[in-house]
Amino acid sequence: MTSALQPAAESLPSLLKRHFGHEDFRPLQEQAIRAALAGRDVFLLLPTGGGKSLCYQLPAVIRNGQGAVTVVISPLIALMHNQVDLLQANGIRATLLNSSITSREAGQRERDLLRGCYDLVYMAPERLMGPAGQRLLQRLNVAQVAIDEAHCISEWGHDFRPEYRMLGGLRVMFPDVPIMALTATATPRVARDIVEQLHLRDPELLRGDFERKNLHYEVRPKHRTFEQVLAYLRQRPTAEGIIYVASRAKAEDLAERLRQHEIAAVAYHAGMDHQTRTENQHAFIHGQARVCCATIAFGMGIDKPDVRFVMHVDLPRHLEGYYQETGRAGRDGLPADCILFFSPGDRQRVMYFIDQKPDEAERERAIKQLDQMIRYARHSHCRMVPLLGYFGETFVSPSGGCGHCDNCRSPRPMRDVTEDARKLLSAVARTQQRFGLPHVIRVLRGSMAEPVTQRGHDQLSVHGIGKAYATEYWRALAQHLIEHDQLALTDDEFRTTFLTPAGLAVLKGQTKVEAGLPQPAPSAGPEKRRKRSSAAAADLTADQQELFEKLRQLRLQIARQQGVPPYIVFGDTTLRHMAVIRPTSLDDFIQLPGVGQAKLERYAARFMELIQQAGEP
Ligand code: ADP
Ligand code: ZN
Repeated sequence: MTSALQPAAESLPSLLKRHFGHEDFRPLQEQAIRAALAGRDVFLLLPTGGGKSLCYQLPAVIRNGQGAVTVVISPLIALMHNQVDLLQANGIRATLLNSSITSREAGQRERDLLRGCYDLVYMAPERLMGPAGQRLLQRLNVAQVAIDEAHCISEWGHDFRPEYRMLGGLRVMFPDVPIMALTATATPRVARDIVEQLHLRDPELLRGDFERKNLHYEVRPKHRTFEQVLAYLRQRPTAEGIIYVASRAKAEDLAERLRQHEIAAVAYHAGMDHQTRTENQHAFIHGQARVCCATIAFGMGIDKPDVRFVMHVDLPRHLEGYYQETGRAGRDGLPADCILFFSPGDRQRVMYFIDQKPDEAERERAIKQLDQMIRYARHSHCRMVPLLGYFGETFVSPSGGCGHCDNCRSPRPMRDVTEDARKLLSAVARTQQRFGLPHVIRVLRGSMAEPVTQRGHDQLSVHGIGKAYATEYWRALAQHLIEHDQLALTDDEFRTTFLTPAGLAVLKGQTKVEAGLPQPAPSAGPEKRRKRSSAAAADLTADQQELFEKLRQLRLQIARQQGVPPYIVFGDTTLRHMAVIRPTSLDDFIQLPGVGQAKLERYAARFMELIQQAGEP
């Protein structure tokens, strides 16, 4: 049945509400859609969660009934399934063709496509460009081609896929069909490369704001990572999220340990067999596992909008990857945490891998990237500056701070640390300026380890004068002194400490040292708790929260019956509004964000029944 929709008669916002349930366009969506409808090529750069898909989906729906189909190219099967499920839940005629369906089924879908039964078809690049795909395309009336994750075409990007290269031929095949390229990876070089490779014609270039205001960026010093992670998870018993680790073994190990502490966790990495990997990913997406402990192999196929945290317990190798990985949090626009656990020793661990690269130039590039990552981790002002700066954006933090990084949310007051600085510098002097920082700090903290005693450093007057404070504090202080030229490290592999003239002045008591360092944590003290409760759970009253939990249960039940992830039924935003508004009529229900015509018909009755049972608060 074709809908009686008259594109000219209905405004874009009203089409948006009816088909997708959204109240308003997000930045750049409307421009992208208008350009697409006008037949122009579009290059859309929006961060993850920015709402890129809508920009080709709504035009596809608007063309509904004209017998023309929008072809969407997507790199991963899981992504395609998810998109098609989401569209179908909204009553939109979408399908996919990839290696996961039988050839009989594919044949049927192709015939239906030719009969104009679909508005959108998702395809993998190799299928599209292969002989069967080509035959199909020749006979199809193609309205638009959309290329998702377009950065996969560029070797400069972090996710190059050779099969994407073939897409360069699309322009020749479809000289008159508008192409839309979409990506969240936006280094200027990759962007230029995409436009060139796809032969985009005078494209409408739309570049979004890469600052994700709902993501709370934070760096925590690493003490006992597992306990720190566990404490976080226990504080937020309903939050679901991803923990990135550096190795396959660690992913498995962490998931196992979390399970031992009754946290539903799964692991995900490239070394698993296909089935386990798919099952684990499925469990996470469908809300059966709260936590996914993963290597960077995990992520691109993940469209889950309600990821409430992304933690990194190992130092990522570059900021670009870090931005992409943390970007998987909070796609639904609700607050989410991005936490990096950092200890200065992490640099060496990554360096070990970099040193094994045979190619000199590659090694140098990797070191440069690593140093940018470390600069981010150590940054004492707004973290958005190094993070967004990486994408060629000069980010100027507003005078009151960005409001969503740890440094801006609780700036550390400057305080006088002269006495501590003198202790540290005299330990450097007493060890004859012949040792690296780790040794100097061991001496300061009174270690009786062999390297200390063997050299008689346990006999020095400075031995143990800094034992009240954790290693972390001394490292941070040393870092501050290094940045201010009051302490230096040799350039060679030994990184030996030595005093500078400015450092000598401190040592002699001629200069004061002020730094925005945290109050020194006692050696093995408990981790400081954050005062802020989970913002995602904030601002609902106890009654609303209770109803919200019930609505979530119902959503989970419906999702299981239908074999789809819960968010396909309704997103958290919709449920939160439902818990507050308690709609009891269809007119009220359709007002909820995320409720369009199809979902109204499908789900309103069951949810309203539950709301009625729950009664008045
Ligand atoms: P991207 O592909 O850019 O990462 P998606 O297309 O997956 O982003 O959209 C992210 C989330 O935002 C989805 O849950 C989607 O339903 C939602 N969304 C998209 N556009 C809007 C809008 N205009 N209003 C409200 N939510 C939207
Ligand atoms: Zn900030």
